[in-house]
Amino acid sequence: MPLLTQSWPTPTDRLVALRQRVRAPFVLPRKGESLAAASLVATAHGVAYADPAQDAAHRDIDGVLWAVCTGSATGGTDYASELHPERQRIAMERLLCAGCKKPAARDERGMAWGLPLLDDAADTVWDRVQTAIPPMCEVCAVLTPQVCPQLREGHVELRVREAELVGVRGTLYPRSSQGGTVDPDALLLYDDPDLPFVIARQSVRELRRITVVARGVACS
Ligand SMILES: [Zn+2]
Repeated sequence: MPLLTQSWPTPTDRLVALRQRVRAPFVLPRKGESLAAASLVATAHGVAYADPAQDAAHRDIDGVLWAVCTGSATGGTDYASELHPERQRIAMERLLCAGCKKPAARDERGMAWGLPLLDDAADTVWDRVQTAIPPMCEVCAVLTPQVCPQLREGHVELRVREAELVGVRGTLYPRSSQGGTVDPDALLLYDDPDLPFVIARQSVRELRRITVVARGVACS
């Protein structure tokens, strides 16, 4: 009978595997994925896709219209683009890790969140900050700042007891009767009367009852 042999992964092997995981974060788009152009109709009540089936397929439970995405998640990570609308929304609504799609970490201080430092970081009040970045698991909270260009420059690690879904970011179209220009990056809260005129790309939560775990850590 031949001898059975098995090689166990070394700590270095596991670290390489983990770093590979965070090099392709769940919520980031891959090269080859993009937003698709879709015919729009605008009425006094809001904007809609001209194709009723497409419109119905891209409205969430609150009636908000979401961007149409194309391509497959097979190419390299596109760090230059904003978070992938469909995967960002999944992670944000279900409170899944932005890096690996596993449940976000929780302890007695709340859920783990990692955010880039703001320009006025020294005076930043993080309570009630509104963000489109989903939470993270324990592993991704440690490793992601080492590979993500936004977090490498400095980030804050938070624990959050309340994280209410408060609105969306997206492209806001003017009411037809008022004229005006398109705002490509508008924040619309759920009680905003202009919400029917937005095509959403990012779900936004407001973080409350926050504990700052660490901040200002720049990775070399
Ligand atoms: Zn993770």
